[in-house]
Amino acid sequence: MKKMTKACFKYITLLLILSCSAHSQEIPSILSEGFSPISYSTNQNHLIKPKKLKNNIENYCERLGVHFKKFKWNEDPCGKVKWKAEYSTPSAHPLIYTVFGNGKLTTLLFGGVHPDELTPIPIAFRFARYLAKHPEIYANKKVIVAPLVNPDGFIRNYPSRVNSRGIDLNRNFFTLDWYAKSLAWWRHRKGANSRHFPGYFPNSEIETLFQIQLVDQYRPDKILSIHAPLGFIDYDGPGDRKKRTLSSVERKAKNLAHSISKKSSNYKVVDYSFYPGSLGNFAGNERKIPTITLELRTTNPKKVEEYWNQFLPGMVQAIKYPFSKTFSTRKNQPSEFRPNSPNSRKNM
Ligand SMILES: [Zn+2]
Repeated sequence: MKKMTKACFKYITLLLILSCSAHSQEIPSILSEGFSPISYSTNQNHLIKPKKLKNNIENYCERLGVHFKKFKWNEDPCGKVKWKAEYSTPSAHPLIYTVFGNGKLTTLLFGGVHPDELTPIPIAFRFARYLAKHPEIYANKKVIVAPLVNPDGFIRNYPSRVNSRGIDLNRNFFTLDWYAKSLAWWRHRKGANSRHFPGYFPNSEIETLFQIQLVDQYRPDKILSIHAPLGFIDYDGPGDRKKRTLSSVERKAKNLAHSISKKSSNYKVVDYSFYPGSLGNFAGNERKIPTITLELRTTNPKKVEEYWNQFLPGMVQAIKYPFSKTFSTRKNQPSEFRPNSPNSRKNM
């Protein structure tokens, strides 16, 4: 008996040693991918001290103005808009946004997610300045504009797609497929091109958390994000990529894209898929918020005037389009939708 116990003990010890050595073989390969030195952002460690906020935004706007001149955009980007910010980036730029109106129907607009796509940046700032002068557009409505989501990618010698930590913010959202698909998609579909790196893990960037914070706080009925240079409008949200007959609610949500197109010289509408970690996936696919990606035709900084004239009516239409969304109050329940009241439907 004693012999048997001893043999058992030896066997268990051997198993333990083997399993430990198997783990110790895995760890170095994980470390070699860079897990060890990577820090992650939380909202808390990027908070701007309230005392510094005013100065911080003023200095930032000044820097932006200087940077705008490099591209011969002779305008004051921030203008007289009342900007807000809670967080700053690793390069100490405040993540500014502004809120117009206090009605229920809410539209959220993002610009400058990929700053090497230059044209959306002045268009988004102009739109904020335009709204400040035209309150009639958002009477009984609410509009949130975050014109430059990735300031660190813009305020540098050569604007980049990624942020200052080398991460593509439109691949960094924590979508359900992120862990299964994101890094594989990057390696196999993008040849591990550093311009498309989704991060070592999702929601690792303050600029991603900033966008999520605005979605969570304002619960928008629709989102518009401006990019370039693919030259189309893409829709993600209820009714997207469905082969079956759409419900009336899905049809109405999806029609937002066509409604914007109509007001933008019948700009092309496409039905593209979304990516692991993208805003279209996070907000449109998973949270069922109609999400429009407006892809301007080029990134040529000389085209801003032309694009402004073409897309201003479409952006205003995005605000006016009467589709509202009711979030479920129960946790872990999919969002529910209801078409707007019959009265507002007349405005379509
Ligand atoms: Zn882009």
